[in-house]
Amino acid sequence: MALIVQKYGGTSVADLDCIKLVALRVKALKEQGHKIAVVVSAMAGFTDQLVDWVSEIHNHNDLKEYDSVLSSGEQITAGLLALYLQKLGISSRSWLGWQIPFETNDSYSSARITNVISERLNKAIQSGEIPVVAGFQGISSENRITTLGRGGSDTSAVALAASIGADRCDICTDVEGVFTADPRIVTGAKKIDKITYEEMLEMASQGAKVLQTRSVEMAMKHHVPLQVLSSFSDLPGTFVVDEENIVEQEILSGVTYSREEAKITILNMADKPGVAAALFGPLAEASINVDMIVQNVSSDGKSTDMTFTVPRNDLDKALSVIDSDAINLEFERIESDAYVAKISVIGMGMRSHAGVASKMFNALGDKGINIQVISTSEIKISVLVSEEYTELAVRALHTAYGLDAATK
Ligand code: ADP
Ligand code: ASP
Ligand code: MG
Repeated sequence: MALIVQKYGGTSVADLDCIKLVALRVKALKEQGHKIAVVVSAMAGFTDQLVDWVSEIHNHNDLKEYDSVLSSGEQITAGLLALYLQKLGISSRSWLGWQIPFETNDSYSSARITNVISERLNKAIQSGEIPVVAGFQGISSENRITTLGRGGSDTSAVALAASIGADRCDICTDVEGVFTADPRIVTGAKKIDKITYEEMLEMASQGAKVLQTRSVEMAMKHHVPLQVLSSFSDLPGTFVVDEENIVEQEILSGVTYSREEAKITILNMADKPGVAAALFGPLAEASINVDMIVQNVSSDGKSTDMTFTVPRNDLDKALSVIDSDAINLEFERIESDAYVAKISVIGMGMRSHAGVASKMFNALGDKGINIQVISTSEIKISVLVSEEYTELAVRALHTAYGLDAATK
């Protein structure tokens, strides 16, 4: 008998029929003798609709009301699933974030969980009840509802699993696990049986939306055994594990993409000590996350070009910070491009194999794709390309590294 947290994402609870199927799955798991808590997302598309409604009234300036509205989708799903479970003869009730509570910091719209006080919920589980927890939400120190950033129900589930000491956290979704690339773009992508927390963290943070990045961070920190699997089949999914649990390490685990980038270039910037700090300090103060950075060698020792990326949503804000008095820099002009994509290859094997980067550059060059910026970490290489080449680049790299199902 195990203690299991299962999270069901938006497509898995898209309508009443889907929610009924989830109830039957949960019942079957209970009949195997397990103790279970379920975390749910809003019905597919519902949160997007809520964002649109808020945007029509207000440009997200009041993030407290934004969170209050956005958190409502999960409340509906939690209640409906609890009702279906009751109908199947199972004792169940819904729990909202504040009722547990999931305590968070005050960063509305992307709050971090600081504490989960799960004693009452745990008591309910131990008594045989199945709590259905509304994901994606918590409560701030000001007693207001917070949300955890898009895709945040994954993090709710992992935080709950860590807090109650669950044996496993299942992330049930619309694909059979974590694939070597987004299966919606690469038809030959393969399901990965086991992946390390480190690789999964890179995959998620470089754009594989199957898990929210923070959920992987939290699972890694608290050693929560994580499985990503389909809500619609009984096949085992992908297990996210510590490195020592992987016997044969592939060189490369996967290829990811992110269209959420924008590129800024500052041309002919006076090159003297302190310019990078003068530029990136105010951007950081404005909570703008700078990712890739390239500074050209200044041939005359006097001026240089600086290129970097920011989240696409923050492009206008970043440009206005650079243009403001907050930045004391001399430069000729600024160029920006919102139509770029970051393509990354990720794998632990990169640490011990040479030639991974050159293979990437050759594969992209062969397809006539120009690389604008490159950045690397120990287990990842990322390149920035024009957005129109996203699919072509991902597919070309997937083939070049021998990841296509048919080539193995
Ligand atoms: P949920 O609503 O269940 O949380 P998400 O839409 O957040 O589901 O995540 C699942 C989606 O993630 C899949 O439908 C798939 O298109 C996408 N995805 C992107 N990269 C990957 C990958 N490497 N492996 C699996 N799925 C991926
Ligand atoms: N419903 C939220 C979203 O769409 C949270 C989630 O699905 O994980 O982002
Ligand atoms: Mg998700």
